[in-house]
Amino acid sequence: MIWNPNKESMPREQMRELQGKRLHKVVDYVYHNVPFYRNKMQEMDINPNDIRSIDDIVKLPFTTKQDLRDNYPTGLQAAPASEIIRFHASSGTTGNPTIVGYTRKDVSVWSECMARCLTAYGVTRDDVFSVAYGYGLFTGGLGVHYGVEHLGAAVLPTSTGNTEKHVRLLRDLGVTGIACTPSYALYLAETMERMGITPDMIKLRVGAFGAEPWTENMRQEIERRLGLKGYNLYGLSEIMGPCVSYECECQNGSHICEDHYFPEIVDPNTLETLPHGQVGELVFTTLTKEGMPLLRYRTRDLCSLMDGECECGRTSVRMGRIMGRSDDMLIIRGINVFPSQVESVILGMPECAPRFLLIVDRVGNLDTLTVEVEVRQEYFDAGFDTLTPITDLEKKVAEKLRSVLSISVKVKVKAPNTIERSQGKSKFVIDNRKIQ
Ligand code: ADP
Ligand code: ZN
Repeated sequence: MIWNPNKESMPREQMRELQGKRLHKVVDYVYHNVPFYRNKMQEMDINPNDIRSIDDIVKLPFTTKQDLRDNYPTGLQAAPASEIIRFHASSGTTGNPTIVGYTRKDVSVWSECMARCLTAYGVTRDDVFSVAYGYGLFTGGLGVHYGVEHLGAAVLPTSTGNTEKHVRLLRDLGVTGIACTPSYALYLAETMERMGITPDMIKLRVGAFGAEPWTENMRQEIERRLGLKGYNLYGLSEIMGPCVSYECECQNGSHICEDHYFPEIVDPNTLETLPHGQVGELVFTTLTKEGMPLLRYRTRDLCSLMDGECECGRTSVRMGRIMGRSDDMLIIRGINVFPSQVESVILGMPECAPRFLLIVDRVGNLDTLTVEVEVRQEYFDAGFDTLTPITDLEKKVAEKLRSVLSISVKVKVKAPNTIERSQGKSKFVIDNRKIQ
């Protein structure tokens, strides 16, 4: 099923034409309503009439997270205050959070796009759907909530926390769908297991997971432990929230709601546009947003774009899995290393807990990478280190990492719960080279 075949399966030519028209309109709108953009465009000696087709997008200035911070709280807002009906704020672990204002039309576009995602996952009006993203300033909870209501399924606004009650509700209400972060899905599975509830005692069949990077291994683990099929859901508050892209039943990349969010991939260093298929930084332009439209917003997410019609019948461009953040990417002895690659190796090893830390150093002129990883509690309890020397496990992890990363890695296996936990977004990397 396709929620909006008109848009999701639009012939490519027609889509590009629509995007061109919308781009011209949004550029004209920000030029007249956002001094930041007017100044930038004047500096570059361009005006809205120079933007006639979607190909002209490369003439436009980029927008960065720093630009949002510099214009805190609402300097980039284009709509008058009376038109704003909701605010969200991104987590912003350092400095000012990023505040995004939405008009009524923005909220309705968001709900429409979210309904497209849910329909692609196979959710219908007959489903009972639990939203276990946090409700509040974070876009996850309310964003998915409005989409479920718009679709017409029943929404269960569970939010996060009180996980045992959540598990009981899943069972008692026969909940069939859930949206949450992949890490919360694993926590939910652990809680269920502790309560003696097996996947066949609940009816979950669809999971929408996102808001943080996850791997194919994680997908398999979640699917097995919760007895559902897991789909990717991508979004960011600056552009809208969850709904920017979604997997269909083919699960070959995530379809982008291209009539609203125009994607580009650029080289994060030169800012040159890269052809589809190459990995680089994902950049979005909002084509219809009123509250806070953004031109060429640099997401810092690294991935590639894929063309070509999908077997599901949608024609929209798809994005590959997020491989990391451009600000996360490490260059070690000239090789690009993403923490997500290390994560996927560690999640694939039954002896290791999903917890790790990368420590990069420079010894002489040589970069070194040490990966600290925790052993799983049950292996530890079984006295594994007396049965299998820890060095054997270290060697095993190091070999796997070497084959995936193409560089040699030193591995330190540690006891459970010894790698420091951080609140909110985890810190995976310590790069000691910078302070030498
Ligand atoms: P912030 O992290 O800046 O507070 P958000 O809470 O809006 O902002 O988070 C958006 C970011 O979350 C994205 O830029 C991306 O890095 C990450 N993200 C969201 N969905 C996914 C997904 N499905 N896969 C990987 N990363 C995701
Ligand atoms: Zn598809």
